[in-house]
Formats: sequence, structure tokens, C-alpha cells
Amino acid sequence: MASQEWLEKDFYAVLGVPQDASKKDIEKAYRKLAREWHPDHNPAADAEERFKGISEAYSVLHDDKSRGEYDQIQLMKSGRGGFGGAHAAPGGINLEDLFGNAGGGSGGFSDLFGGLFGGGSGTRRRSGAVRGNDLRTNVTLDFADAVKGSTTELRMRAPGECETCHGSGAKPGTSPTTCPRCNGRGLVTENQGAFSFAQPCPECEGTGTVVTDPCPDCGGTGATTKDRVITVRVPAGIGDGQTIRLAGRGAPGERGGPAGDLLVRVTVRSHPLFARDGDNVTVRLPVSFPEAALGAKVKVPTLDGPVTLKVPEGTPTGRVLRVKGRGVPGKGDLLVTVDVDVPTALTAEAREALEKYAAAAPAADRSKLEELTGQ
Ligand SMILES: [Zn+2]
Ligand SMILES: [Zn+2]
Repeated sequence: MASQEWLEKDFYAVLGVPQDASKKDIEKAYRKLAREWHPDHNPAADAEERFKGISEAYSVLHDDKSRGEYDQIQLMKSGRGGFGGAHAAPGGINLEDLFGNAGGGSGGFSDLFGGLFGGGSGTRRRSGAVRGNDLRTNVTLDFADAVKGSTTELRMRAPGECETCHGSGAKPGTSPTTCPRCNGRGLVTENQGAFSFAQPCPECEGTGTVVTDPCPDCGGTGATTKDRVITVRVPAGIGDGQTIRLAGRGAPGERGGPAGDLLVRVTVRSHPLFARDGDNVTVRLPVSFPEAALGAKVKVPTLDGPVTLKVPEGTPTGRVLRVKGRGVPGKGDLLVTVDVDVPTALTAEAREALEKYAAAAPAADRSKLEELTGQ
């Protein structure tokens, strides 16, 4: 039995024993260290990590067979092995081939076996762990809720951790039992010539335990599909078509794997008046010609109630005026585009006044048109 992890770890150093330590010494060292570093008693931040390492080292070294294999791997690694080359293994198999990537620590082999050797008390076997699927759903938000952020409740039918067995798959009051095929090891060993290969146990899928009395609500899978209400916090300024990722709210993992994520695609309802330009909110403001020409104070609606905007004297149509802080909170403004209204129906009095104005006003400047086109 072999693992890439074994290449990189010094289990003797972890237990503080020499390489020729007796079984008894290994056991003594383990008991002392396990007591010292048990996370229930040791408040140090790394106590759990240390305790796991100690358990792992012990689980390998206290067993003659696995200790022998570990020693062999260390020998091959250091090139002191009896097989000829630094990385040569029996039959000419290269260790890099065997382990995918001997130096890097990633690759199919180590993924398959990573964390499998937890073994001893206090650690959890997670060899067959599979991350749960990501789930997808949609939500439609009002314009203002998207700008300002909101909390919304989503109703969806989706798989989640079974509430009866809390994901263990075992009937309440019972617990999964040690797998009879691998004796809880999570691995079965297959001999092929000079080599023995370990594979995740097919009976328990590498978990080391089997459910003999399955939970009646989930049939032993640890997951049930139910109508769920999920609270989604929508960040201020989210845009139409964007996706919110809720980590760990997707389908539950299998065999101790982490849950997937929930991806919520956002649709934002359009608003009859307001629109978005990034973090800014935009609005068109109709003003009369006299207001634009003479200047005026005009009431402008915002998502948080009206503000009074000063339209400066001589403001042309299409000019954008800015109301600070009335866009996405802390990020955007309200951009007000001035829209000079041309009256379509005039009273006799208004017409007379306009004609008077036309006679007194300067003509529109069309010199540019002539200059550029010669027409
Ligand atoms: Zn269940
Ligand atoms: Zn098994």
C-alpha cells in the first residue's frame, strides 16, 4: 500500500521516535502526544492539525505491514533503495508515473488517495468524498431592491442534507458500522506481480463504514429533496443578468464531501422612470424652455424621495446634472439628463409672448452648418 503523501511525510519525526523504534516505543510516543495535542484539551490553534498528524503517523507506523511499505517508499525516495535508481521502482516503473506527479502534490493518484490515511482515533476518513452539485435558480428583483440591496426569500425544491439523519444515512439511534470487507480501512489491496495496489473499497466506497440500518427518510443517501426556503442577501448594485453564488448551499456532498454552491441568476425589473448606468441611476428631467434659459430650481424624484435640483441659467437640452449619492449606496450618483420640453399646444397669450420673444431674441446660430457643408 502506498500514497504520494507518504513520500512527503516524516512519520518518525512526527512521533519523535528513531527509525528503528520498537512497536512499544511508537505506541508510548503516540499515547503521550495524542494526550498532549487532543483538541478537546489543547487550546492551541493548530492542535487539531497536530493531533491529526500524530494519529496518521501512528496509524501507519503501528502496523507492521504499512510501516514496511512506508519505509520502502522513503528508501526509494532517498535513492537508498535496492532497485537501482533514485526513482526506479521494481519492474522499471517510475515513481512519478506511479504517483502522477511525485513533487507537486496534485494529480489523479493523490486526489484519489488524498486524506485516506487518517486512520487513528479522532480523524475522519474522506477517501470517497464527493463534492455536491452546484444548483441553479433564478430570482427577479424590483429595480430599487437591486440598486439598494435587499434580502429576499427564495422558494425552491432541491436536494439538501437529510434532517432526520443529518446526512449520515443511518437510521436515528443507529450509526454506520465498520465495513466488513476492508475492516474499516477504506481500502482493499490487490496484488499484481511485485506490486500491491490499494483501491478504495467498493463495498463502502472508501469511507470505511457501511450503513446497515438506513435512515427511513432518505433511504441511506443522507440527502432528501424538499421544498426549501432560502434567504438570499442581494448586494447593493447588482445588475440584471448577474449571478449570486451562495457557497455551500447547493446539493449536499457525498461521503463527507462538501456541499456544492447555489447559483442565483438575477433578473432586474425595469423601472418606468429610472435606469442604470453602472453604479449610477439615470433619469430624464423635462424642463420648459424658460427654465432652461433663465435657470430654475426643479424638484427631481430619486429612489429615496425628491430632491431640489438647480438647473443653471442657459442649460442646453441633453446636459447631464449630477445629484451626489443617489445611486448605488456608497458608490453611485443620480445622473439627471435635462430634456427641454417644446410645447405642442399654445394658448393665445403664450403664442403672443413667444412671437414677441422671437422678434427680440437672437437667431439660432447655424453658422457651423454653412461653414462645414458650404450649403
Ligand atoms: Zn436520512
Ligand atoms: Zn470497505
